Amino acid sequence: MNWPSDELESLRARHLLRRLRSTEGTEPRTVLNGQTVLLLCSNNYLGLANHPALAEAARSALERYGTSASGSRLVSGSLALHGELEKRVAEWMGTEAALVFNSGYQANVGAIPALAREGDLILSDELNHASLIDGCRLSRARTRVFRHADPQHLESLLAENSTASRTGKNIIVTESVFSVDGDLAPLTEIASLARRFDALLIVDEAHAVGVFGPAGAGRVEELQLEVAVDIRMGTFSKALGSFGAFVAGRRDLIEYLVNRARSFIYSTALPPATLGASLAAVQAIQREPERRKSLWENVRFLREGLKDQGWSLLSEASQILPVLIGEARETMEVTDELLARGVFAQGLREPTVAPGTSRLRLTPMATHNREDLTQALAAFDEVSTARRNRGWTPVSATTS
Ligand SMILES: *Cc1c(COP(=O)(O)O)cnc(C)c1O
Repeated sequence: MNWPSDELESLRARHLLRRLRSTEGTEPRTVLNGQTVLLLCSNNYLGLANHPALAEAARSALERYGTSASGSRLVSGSLALHGELEKRVAEWMGTEAALVFNSGYQANVGAIPALAREGDLILSDELNHASLIDGCRLSRARTRVFRHADPQHLESLLAENSTASRTGKNIIVTESVFSVDGDLAPLTEIASLARRFDALLIVDEAHAVGVFGPAGAGRVEELQLEVAVDIRMGTFSKALGSFGAFVAGRRDLIEYLVNRARSFIYSTALPPATLGASLAAVQAIQREPERRKSLWENVRFLREGLKDQGWSLLSEASQILPVLIGEARETMEVTDELLARGVFAQGLREPTVAPGTSRLRLTPMATHNREDLTQALAAFDEVSTARRNRGWTPVSATTS
């Protein structure tokens, strides 16, 4: 076997080969492989990646402190910016403390193995993000997967494992807004199970921070579960338009992570410009609630338009609009047909999603205007009409 070219060929034959496309940014109108497109698949939900205040804060941090942190914080020290960002995040999240990580991925693969030890039991939602799965794998704890967003199944797994002879901890891990399905975890029920079974509760708010909650602090804030949730992870790279991530919680847990999270200890800290942008983003989210308002208006407009055209949405609970197509091949065809009409809506295939549930993951932004979204809907309508004329019928989300 001629490895890896045979394997790449096999991916190509199954329409699963991924390739990189070049882009010129994350504005609603951008350039993709040389073509001007309307961007409908970015996590720049609030448009903060293009906010002048973030660019200005990044520039002034860069000028003051240089281009690099040049070391792990435990070795060569923390910049004032690290401490200031952590203080602001903790205030915003309503927690005692917070710790900045280099990315959401690194936060999850660092925090989970630090908190979950041999003899512990991790209960992990079936659709958890790869970084949470990898965090569970890196820990020495046993992991049981509960059915997606199913508190009854979680409860039965907890009950099965609650013998008095067990000495290890229980740890529940879930996202609050699921990144590719766009649906919501039943956090209130999960929090009460965590209390009943004395489990540590870790919630990944990557797609909720900046978007949900009165102060944009996420679904934990929205549901007032600040005390019930032990560890909250949020990323600066999505709605906050910057890069890096944070973990927020009680002071003892945060101090413990400083001592035990390997991705925090053994990696160079984030550079000053990034910290500056993240600080400005935390301020912008709180000062400019109108961005959240226009995001939700845009979500509603696009969602209702797509439904009127007969597309099936896997969920209507968040800003993430997953349009179910079905097979990988058709999904990538739809992506290409939309691109031919100037709309960039990336298709997601296995292994990111289960086979047969390939989809477009549409993400409107606060900075799309009505004209943008009307153009997008017109392109969807043309694609659907052309496909139906060729005998195509879309899969229905309820029968899949
Ligand atoms: C994007 C994402 C991450 C990783 O965050 P990065 O900062 O991009 O590394 C973690 N968890 C979930 C649910 C995500 O969607």
